[in-house]
Amino acid sequence: MFIKALIFFALIMIVVTLVKRGKKDGTNMPTTMNTTSSDKAMKRCAECGVHLPEQEALTYQTLSFCCNDHKKLYLKDKET
Ligand SMILES: [Zn+2]
Repeated sequence: MFIKALIFFALIMIVVTLVKRGKKDGTNMPTTMNTTSSDKAMKRCAECGVHLPEQEALTYQTLSFCCNDHKKLYLKDKET
């Protein structure tokens, strides 16, 4: 009973965290490159925080990654 509730709670926390991160990525563009890159959408790697053009980014749901390794790393992080 308690364990089930704990797992459920943990899952909710993970989802909330992911949604928050996704929203941050989508709405609050990084301020550094923002002013000059209105024609090119910049994405931020959720794992290492590096910025890269949208067409070079790997996307997973609402998240973006600079490379496949970071995508794997990030998802592995969240699973545990
Ligand atoms: Zn990265």
